[in-house]
This record gives sequence, C-alpha cells and structure tokens, in this order.
Amino acid sequence: MASKQPGDANTNIPDYEYTDVNTKPFHIGSLRNEWLDRLKPCDFSFQQEDEETFHANFAEEMGLDAQTMTELRSLCSLDSLRCHPEGQTVDTDVVPPDPTLKTLVQRKKKQDYKASLKISKNRHDLYAEELERLTTGRKSEAPGDMIPEGEVILTINVYYPAIIKRFNYVRPHMTLMMTGSHSLADLRDAICCVSDLQVCGEFSNTPDMAPDFISKDHFKSAFFFFEGVFYNDMRFPECQDISMTTIEWGKDRNFPSYAQAKMEDTQLVDLKVKVGFPYLYCHQGDCEHLVIITDVRLAHKNDCLDKKLYPLLTHKHRIITQKCAVCHVFIGRWITVNDQFAPSVPCLFCDKCFRMLHYDAEGNKLGDFLAYPYVDQGAFN
Ligand SMILES: [Zn+2]
Ligand SMILES: [Zn+2]
Repeated sequence: MASKQPGDANTNIPDYEYTDVNTKPFHIGSLRNEWLDRLKPCDFSFQQEDEETFHANFAEEMGLDAQTMTELRSLCSLDSLRCHPEGQTVDTDVVPPDPTLKTLVQRKKKQDYKASLKISKNRHDLYAEELERLTTGRKSEAPGDMIPEGEVILTINVYYPAIIKRFNYVRPHMTLMMTGSHSLADLRDAICCVSDLQVCGEFSNTPDMAPDFISKDHFKSAFFFFEGVFYNDMRFPECQDISMTTIEWGKDRNFPSYAQAKMEDTQLVDLKVKVGFPYLYCHQGDCEHLVIITDVRLAHKNDCLDKKLYPLLTHKHRIITQKCAVCHVFIGRWITVNDQFAPSVPCLFCDKCFRMLHYDAEGNKLGDFLAYPYVDQGAFN
C-alpha cells in the first residue's frame, strides 16, 4: 500500500493548527457526517439503554464471563457501599462526623466550608443552578420541538466589546449552546450588548422622548466574520451591507479577497471554522465582539433536548451596576453636564431623582443643563 501523503488528510476532521489553541478550518456539517458514518445509531441515540443490555454490552466489551460479571455487579452495587450497619436507613444528605471514604471526606469539607460562609448564595447563583437543573436531559413535550438525534451542538463564547477597556480582561461575556440548524441571525439575536440599548442625543427638554430612540431599532446592520467571509444581517429593509467598506479597503491594499453571505441564510452547519479561533461580530457601527466557537459535538441524551430553550445561555458574566448619585439605590439612567443641581460633572441620576431635581410638577425644565440617557453596562445582569 502506498504511504499516506500529507495531502490525503481528511480536512473534515479537525486537527490542531496550534496545539491546545485552535484547530485548522473544517466544515461543521461535514464533520457531523463523518461522525454519523462511523458511529452506530445506538451510539448517538437518545433512548435510554436498559440495564440488562448495558451489562451484556459491558461484559462483551471487557471480555468477561457471566460468573465474573455477576460477582462484579454484586461487589460494585450501590447496596454494598455503606458506612452504616446493614438494615439501617440513613439520611443521605448528612455526612457522618468522621468519614473514611474519600468521597465523603471531600463532601464533608465542602459542606463545612459552605456552612462557614457568612453570605448565602446570591440570586444570580440561584438562577444559574435552577437553569442547570431545568435543562439537563430535558425532553420536549411536543415531539416537533425535540432536537433530532445526530444533531450537532456548538458551544459559543461571546466577549465584551473591545472598546470598553474595563472589560478587556473579563472573558467571556456569555456562553451559548446552539444547534447546527440555528442560523447566524439566531446567534446575533441571542447576543446581548448594551450598545443596542444606547440612546444617542441630548434630551433635557424632552426626557419622555428618549426611549423612542434605542439604537437597536435604528441601526440594524451587523455582520459576523468567519474564515474570510462576511455574513451580513440583511433581514430588514434598513439593513446595509456594512462589510463593503472593509472589503473595498482590503482590495485596495492587496489583501486576499473576502466573500459575502447573508447571516439569515447561513446555518451553523454551513460554516467552515476553526474551533478555538477568535472571529468577529460587529454591530452598531463599531461595537466589535470576539466570538469563539469552543466546541462542536453531537447531541447527547443528557443534553437539553427541547429546541425551544435554545440558544441556551449557560454562562453570563455579571457587572456591578453604577448607582444614582443622589439615592445610591437605583441604577443610573441619566447623565447630566453643566448641571447646577449636580454634585459632580458629569453626574449620574436614576430616573426618579433626575426628574424630581430637574423638573417642576408640570414637567417644566428647571435651570440650564444637558441630559443624556445612560444605559448601565449591567443592564443584562
Ligand atoms: Zn456590542
Ligand atoms: Zn436616585
């Protein structure tokens, strides 16, 4: 047989480009097909294997005879793992005072540590735990909403925009799980960024008008950039192809030519990507986020199998919110300058304090100041 040439390598199977950093580019749908070709349907089936079949398969795989298998089953059974006399029922949440079993020693350590903490869990941790409890192995009630067997699941990290210096060392901002049949537009809609909520303009004369000017409703253009292709959001008539400026710029400077496609027409399985490699999401003109696909794999029966819960948010970074300079209780909503009522320049106010200080009962502006709507970075906490 002829020796294998380097050119023969199957490019649909990811290989490291830089060890432990990122892979070479591969096509996600083709990788899925490679898996489906090699695996038996039972390997990626969502059906729970019954116990007898599991043991029979195990014995066969390990080359064990029936007698050894029976012995192993009784020795390793849960009933034989006891720290208490046979026949006695115990509360499994209570660790005995002097455990010798390593797992119990670890568990006791953890329990003692938790008990020593002054503050209990905050609502964010409770929410995260609840989410995990609700989604692990979750099946959908409607068969049509079940994720099909053999579907790919991608783990995607989205980072804070690079323009906010404060967050340059915080990463990632959010981690999402998505299926191969999601489109890039679905990914875009799942990304929360305060730039979308920003209101541009000075509204001291008409503070009630401010909410009508949220950037998201006015500037809908955006793109993802993966492996030399700009994927533009063109779902709405007001969307513009904002990648054109970069493409033209690259052309004038002899960069390799870039391709274009539509975000809404591109499913994640259609993408050619490197896992672990930083790509770009750009919206609101210059709000640029790094996007890294960290994992591509087949769906497992213990995954959340309810389509409706995807894109599934599995991690989200939290930020300390900036409070109002007057009450120190509510989150800042307005920034003022040239403001005779303010203790500092610029000054942050919550909506209530801002209106109480700066307008009379009829809503007339008092004094001379400029007011800009402020969106806290923690708006998505
Ligand atoms: Zn952004
Ligand atoms: Zn206030």
